[in-house]
Amino acid sequence: MGKQFLVTIAILALVYSLVNASDPSPLQDFCVAIDEPKDALFVNGKFCKNPNLVNADDFFFTGLDKPGNTSNPLGSAVTAVNVIQLKGLNTLGISLARIDFAPYGLNPPHTHPRGTEVLLVLEGSLLVGFVTSNIPNQKNRLFTKTLYAGDVFVFPEGLIHFQQNIAETNTIAFAGLSSQNPGTITIANAVFGSDPEISPDVLTKAFQVEKNVIDYLQSQFWWDNNY
Ligand code: MN
Repeated sequence: MGKQFLVTIAILALVYSLVNASDPSPLQDFCVAIDEPKDALFVNGKFCKNPNLVNADDFFFTGLDKPGNTSNPLGSAVTAVNVIQLKGLNTLGISLARIDFAPYGLNPPHTHPRGTEVLLVLEGSLLVGFVTSNIPNQKNRLFTKTLYAGDVFVFPEGLIHFQQNIAETNTIAFAGLSSQNPGTITIANAVFGSDPEISPDVLTKAFQVEKNVIDYLQSQFWWDNNY
């Protein structure tokens, strides 16, 4: 091969990579750059195990046959199987959760910043819903549905959603999520239970209520039902 040909190939490869280059989606809340690799905790996602040391257990998790503990003020428990529990999920863009509900238990309004959720009701019934992002000159829209055993519902990535058991019996659901680490932001916990707390002046104006209402909300214990 001539030199000219190789140069042409190199230029074509460079152009191709520029045209197709894009950043991968974030796999965690943030990834602050550092100069010293010895101080690194994450690559975007996790470091990879040497393939020669990988075995079947790296792709295995057991225990989702057992109900989560729903004895909490919400009456619900989310048991996640994501890259933290199942290392083999790293870079694969998928994870799973079991959600248990006591009678009338609630999985409160929350979002997954990095994942769409597809929910299957295995046993019992749920009132579910999600709210769209802001629409100019309109109210945010609520899409809601009552689900029974065998029903499937999808909650699009990033949108606020909830699930409430409307039965006097326990409800069991499973959710697939389109991220190895979808993340969960429980709205009440994030807004009223952050540490340090958001200035009451901000929340008083944001929610258009008296300061004593915000003080009351900020003094509550905001239970996290994600285990
Ligand atoms: Mn969810």
